[in-house]
Amino acid sequence: MRALLASTLVATVSCQEAAHQDRKPGGFVPDGNMERAQVPDGTTWQLAPLFADDDSFAAALNTLAARREQLVTFAGKLGSPAHLRECLDLYFDIRLETNRATLYANLRYTTDTSSTDAQAMRDKSLDALNALMSDAGFIRQEILGLSDSAVETAYTSEPRLREYAPYIDEQRRRRARLLAPEAERVLSLAGDNLWAEIDLNEIPSDHEKTFGAAITDLQLPKLRDENNRLVQLTLSNYGRLRASGDRRVRRQAVEKLFGTLKEYQHILAGTLSGQVRFNIFLARARGYDRAIEAYLDKDNIDVSVYENLIQSIRANLEPLHDYVALRKKAMGVDEVRVYDLYTPLVAAVDMQFPYERAAEILPAALAPLGPEYVAALTTGLDPTNGWLDLYPSKGKESGAFCASLYGTHPFVKMNYFEGYGDLSTLAHEYGHALHAYYSGKTQPYVTFHYPAFVAEVASTINEKLLSDHLVANAESDAEKLFILSHLVESIRTTIYRQTLFADFELQIHTAAENGTPLTAEFLNETYRDLIATYYGDGFTIGENDDIEWAYIPHFYYKFYVFTYATGLSSGIALSERVQSGDPAQRDAFLGMLAAGSSKPPLELLRDAGVDLTEPTAVEAAARLMAETLKQMEALLARSAPAGG
Ligand SMILES: [Zn+2]
Repeated sequence: MRALLASTLVATVSCQEAAHQDRKPGGFVPDGNMERAQVPDGTTWQLAPLFADDDSFAAALNTLAARREQLVTFAGKLGSPAHLRECLDLYFDIRLETNRATLYANLRYTTDTSSTDAQAMRDKSLDALNALMSDAGFIRQEILGLSDSAVETAYTSEPRLREYAPYIDEQRRRRARLLAPEAERVLSLAGDNLWAEIDLNEIPSDHEKTFGAAITDLQLPKLRDENNRLVQLTLSNYGRLRASGDRRVRRQAVEKLFGTLKEYQHILAGTLSGQVRFNIFLARARGYDRAIEAYLDKDNIDVSVYENLIQSIRANLEPLHDYVALRKKAMGVDEVRVYDLYTPLVAAVDMQFPYERAAEILPAALAPLGPEYVAALTTGLDPTNGWLDLYPSKGKESGAFCASLYGTHPFVKMNYFEGYGDLSTLAHEYGHALHAYYSGKTQPYVTFHYPAFVAEVASTINEKLLSDHLVANAESDAEKLFILSHLVESIRTTIYRQTLFADFELQIHTAAENGTPLTAEFLNETYRDLIATYYGDGFTIGENDDIEWAYIPHFYYKFYVFTYATGLSSGIALSERVQSGDPAQRDAFLGMLAAGSSKPPLELLRDAGVDLTEPTAVEAAARLMAETLKQMEALLARSAPAGG
């Protein structure tokens, strides 16, 4: 999921929403309509390590404003090594304290969204962050203006400056892409998102806004639900209706959405074409040949990683074809259509995990990560230690995330309803939390924040280890099947489907770069070919299935979607290494957690044991999918020997 705006410096990782509504008999029952005061004591996070109270927060904002004024007095003086060091000391100190303020306000707000006080605090803290980014703009400009020899001289004459080398080097890495001041001014007026102090990639382009508005204005038809009631199809109930156990309902949901999208295909092609051409314009303005090079270079990722992902997936499509075949057999349908892909493949099992049980299961499931990991995890899971805000309540934002700040423990937000999905989300978020824990105890502040590109590796490995643990300890075939089906669906939707998207994104950029107009016909044809290739001959493509691209927001995220697939496939490959029992392989993974951003993302992963320029990670994921499908098939045959 895309990181939150202005949270790029606070290392917030916002994750998938938990939609489970399971209930347990007796005891405390999580309820989203409960007042916050009613959730059990000791299950909310403690913000005291950030600020004692709201008054201290307000006082800190005033101090920060004064210190920013002090910072700008360094403008024009950074040619002096001593001034450069003093300036960076001050800048990083202000940045940490500003992060403290944005984190505090964000945590206050997320549990109490209806509070105007909390909203105002959040706005003020974001203003402080924006003010800092704007006031500190001269630092980047002056660092980029230094010659290589001037930087070397500065390190020699001011040895403490070396502490900031990772920051200085990262600023200077794309120095050759910097244009003359007038050209830079024009690009920034045009909405340049390739080079900005905060990640302006998070700010939607006009094309993305037009797309969003067009999608909001779509007049979708009504359809009859499972109880034959007429319901209005919307983009928010689409996911639920598409997953309906009633084939008539899910077929209608998909056909009605796709049919409507076809009616608006030219406007939706126009907005997407505009976005793609804008990406190409910004890339070419900075002298890149292809848009993909520019956008990956921003995060210091080589294009070969992206291309390797697509090639490796295309060479490993059999498990996806097997998946289609298993659905056909298990669902007893004569053809598998796009509207058959989201309904549960096996019966849901009512697995309940009250928090006390979850806090016992996770350390056992994650034991392969070693005693130190488990000890820190156990500390973090103990609600009295204040890392965790566990239960839903009225006004608390849905979903889950982990946020961390240098020098304090991580903060995990959950909306825990005690279902399997919630337990899995808890494992996921503690993957982020332990990443911050290891990085925080090893790195200085300058390299504390782990790169977004590796973030989802630390979280998905935990989901995989949890899934393995629960399968090994399942009480019935039905439970086993239920957990295995979750695993298969996560590989299909996170690796195969997102790579199909990444493939499409690259193809349409390349076409536009070669002068092909991105008409609706061209986009439909490209998408249809991809579905045919990825899902194989056993899959039946409907007349309007080729329009699916038209409502997917990810195509406006500028070469971001492939990171879902690299994240999960790396997590799977690393879980195998960690489970091998070889302490060196486990320690290599923990070394990546401890390394923060002290190395480029690909190097971090390579040191952990995954080379994303090679097909090995995708092969591990494909192998796992194939094996899991076989296991499911055997279990299904055992549970329904008569077939059907
Ligand atoms: Zn995550």
